[in-house]
Amino acid sequence: MALALAAANSGATPADELSAKLGMGVESHDAKGCVLTNGTDIMCLSVGSRRVELNRRTIWLNSPVAFDKEMPSVDDADAERLLAPLFDPPVSTGRIVRVHIDAGHGGEDAGCVSTTHTGMMEKDLVLDLSMRVADLLSSRGCEVTFTRTNDTFTTLSGRTALALTNAVDAFVSIHANFASSKSARGIEIYTLPLAGKPATASDASVSNVERKGNAFDALSAVLGHEVQKRMPGALDDENRGLRHARYQVLRDASCPAILVEVGFLSNKSDALDLCSDWYKDRVATAIADGVSAFADRTRTNDGQASE
Ligand SMILES: [Zn+2]
Repeated sequence: MALALAAANSGATPADELSAKLGMGVESHDAKGCVLTNGTDIMCLSVGSRRVELNRRTIWLNSPVAFDKEMPSVDDADAERLLAPLFDPPVSTGRIVRVHIDAGHGGEDAGCVSTTHTGMMEKDLVLDLSMRVADLLSSRGCEVTFTRTNDTFTTLSGRTALALTNAVDAFVSIHANFASSKSARGIEIYTLPLAGKPATASDASVSNVERKGNAFDALSAVLGHEVQKRMPGALDDENRGLRHARYQVLRDASCPAILVEVGFLSNKSDALDLCSDWYKDRVATAIADGVSAFADRTRTNDGQASE
């Protein structure tokens, strides 16, 4: 609880301090924003916006960039628990051996249904993708556990309970999106908002409660970023970025956790892509490669396998 209050009342980190923290320098800045770079990575911040571009991938901050002491500045909590871990992730010993793949929906819960193409159901698509991701991770020596491997229903609390029972090292929930606007398209990756901060999509759901999943804010950010930067269309305008929402499977996670929205079944282009084996393999490979990169960056292999 003390941590939640600290996050809610945190101060601001000006761009020059942020850049030093990230091992970068301030390339340019004015009252509208700034560009930071280390010669390899480029980060662009815009005053008044929560949207940051890191190497042209979008990362949504939990609070908008402010202008403070003649410098653009980010909330301390965003600096410490979201941005800094992407450059210098917390590292522990012991290989990542267990990954839980949580195919959304199932059974009587079809999820969303494509209205623009073949009537593809989210529950079938995400199960297919989950199996592809699992095959890739298994071939690399990961032990994969599942919420479901067939068309069955599991409650939201049952999903996180399964991951806890199996003592997994990472939790990846896979879903597809749907919007009333048929033009909405692209991929979204979600992690839990920091305590006291709003979800990306709306300012309505602010919660000061430190959720179980908030214990893994830094690691979840690394996992989310490693997956999102590999996704098809990551450099396109359609990439909707690394976002934050209080989904139950993220709130109650007992390990680093992300929720991947692989595209909009309400959009003709996304729905067509997601019908093809070629595209599904690209998405599955991006998720599996992101998990592998997360494992490489956050664990050393000299310890005992984590149990
Ligand atoms: Zn869903």
